[in-house]
Amino acid sequence: MKRAIFPGSFDPITLGHYDIIKRGVTLFDEIVVAIGVNADKNYMFSLDERKKFIEDTFAGEPKIKVMTYEGLTVDFCKKINAEFILRGLRNPADFEFEKAIAHTNRDLAPIETVFLLTSAKTSYIASSIVRDVIRNQGDYTKLVPISVRVK
Ligand code: ADP
Repeated sequence: MKRAIFPGSFDPITLGHYDIIKRGVTLFDEIVVAIGVNADKNYMFSLDERKKFIEDTFAGEPKIKVMTYEGLTVDFCKKINAEFILRGLRNPADFEFEKAIAHTNRDLAPIETVFLLTSAKTSYIASSIVRDVIRNQGDYTKLVPISVRVK
């Protein structure tokens, strides 16, 4: 069973994440969307909200699961028997950042990081931009899956 995790904050999930997950699922038997819990971070959406947005987005997709984790990503991989970490690359800054993390993870555990290049249509989308649009009452619905709705 080829299981990959797709780790991130997903505050909130965007169409960029959606694109990577939908394309990643053709490469693996299962993708676990893994929401990392960081006590020092201030999130716009609660953990429950972020989880529900993703679950609703992929309802009816048996190969896609959603879980939350604390601590090192590689430790979570070992815990759930995932041999792969899936990440998306948008630009050179993502590459530099991801390269350092992937090398570190590889030192810590025999887990391969697999990168997918973002689709041109969603390459500019980031959760931080979505949060900014929401804070300023802009139309965020073009940037996120339909399940993401602000009350
Ligand atoms: P983090 O807290 O790790 O930054 P994010 O939720 O922002 O978490 O991102 C998780 C993953 O999704 C990362 O691999 C990131 O590069 C990728 N990603 C984010 N936005 C996009 C996008 N628009 N297109 C492709 N990949 C993306």
